[in-house]
Amino acid sequence: MTQSLLQFKLVLLGDSAVGKTSLVLRFCKDQYSEQQEPTIGCSFINHNVEIGENEVKLQIWDTAGQERFHSLAPMYYRGAKGALIVYDISSLESFEKAKDWVKELRYQGNPKAKIALVGNKLDLNSKKVDIEVAQNYATKAGLLFYETSAKTGMGVQEVFLGLAQSLPKEK
Ligand code: GDP
Ligand code: MG
Repeated sequence: MTQSLLQFKLVLLGDSAVGKTSLVLRFCKDQYSEQQEPTIGCSFINHNVEIGENEVKLQIWDTAGQERFHSLAPMYYRGAKGALIVYDISSLESFEKAKDWVKELRYQGNPKAKIALVGNKLDLNSKKVDIEVAQNYATKAGLLFYETSAKTGMGVQEVFLGLAQSLPKEK
């Protein structure tokens, strides 16, 4: 039985084309497209999940491509309790950029936001970012860590649910 409705704002950050929108679409609609539109069509999407006894409403914010210019408005981060910071496992550059996003969120956004570092495109054979390197960085920086494929769906539920579960359950 569900006891109460908690609501959390989650934001997606990371370089352009790492698969942020694809992860949201896989999680919320179980869909995937090779020609992913740059946005989910609106600034956020609501998705309810059950965490233990609680029904939790996740308000998931995706960018409209502004990350390309590194110019996200402060309102994008504002009130975010959690963030998925995404890189592409086939791009070392995107992993380096993910570290910059971690700093940006901590200094410009909510320093207390829970962060999940997400290595996406796990289905590709051209892996460049070593899992141990990424895991070590995540541990040192106090981040959750996951590898996913929005294409196959692997790990996608785990990231969103894992992040939601790790958030403090205050209203
Ligand atoms: P965003 O700019 O970070 O929102 O990235 P998109 O979700 O728009 O994805 C960029 C491109 O990468 C699109 O062509 C997607 O189809 C592709 N893509 C996204 N996720 C995956 C994945 O897990 N595996 C593979 N192989 N391609 C992906
Ligand atoms: Mg996008």
